[in-house]
Amino acid sequence: MKLFIKFSLFILSAAILIALAVILQTVDPAQRPPEFEPYVFADTLANRDYDLDSLRAILGDAKGLPKGFEVAAAIAYSAYPQLKDARIDMILTDYGPPMMADIDVWSLFGPRKNRLYQIKLNDAVSTFFDPILLRSLPFDAQVGILAHELGHVAYYHQLNLFQIGKWGFNYLQSDEFHATHERTTDLMPVYHGLASQIYQYAHFVRNDPSCMEFYTNGKEFMDKFYMTDKELLEVISRYQ
Ligand SMILES: [Zn+2]
Repeated sequence: MKLFIKFSLFILSAAILIALAVILQTVDPAQRPPEFEPYVFADTLANRDYDLDSLRAILGDAKGLPKGFEVAAAIAYSAYPQLKDARIDMILTDYGPPMMADIDVWSLFGPRKNRLYQIKLNDAVSTFFDPILLRSLPFDAQVGILAHELGHVAYYHQLNLFQIGKWGFNYLQSDEFHATHERTTDLMPVYHGLASQIYQYAHFVRNDPSCMEFYTNGKEFMDKFYMTDKELLEVISRYQ
């Protein structure tokens, strides 16, 4: 019994220490431009011939490509040389939000180089999200939104375990933190040479006839937490 009490006290103290370590972190929700000069991609990347094998060879073994979207994913990866050695997978799912950047929880407890990031891409059929899922987007818009998701990974990759805990807490608790993080993550493709592609994404989901109903219903949420095509255009014209 005594041993049980000692053990419980130990677990309790460890939990309190971890909670304290998380609370004491400060994390900035805003994304920043990288310190290197990015490669600037062409405004239109669709309708060209790509050699997937050479793209794969350049990316190496640490990157997973989602079936059917390999080229778009490979281009998006190539815009983030700072993630060259990071283990990232892109997985098609039949659940969840249209796209999300996640971290395999168990890999968080090891060294950072062993972390596994997972970009989950909802590919379910006949759901509310159909018009804005990856398969419904034009090629350049696919590259743009995958570059947004990789922007989240680039952010996570700079944080330690406790900072990630604090980030997750703030993201869920504060609309302002959430909006600043997502809206500046929309700028990550701009910072990484894929400005036209994220613009094409933001434009498509707000203006294409196939997205009209979805956008009308979700306008308030989408325009609060993400950059509109018009806002992006203004930032891009100032940035270039
Ligand atoms: Zn996002």
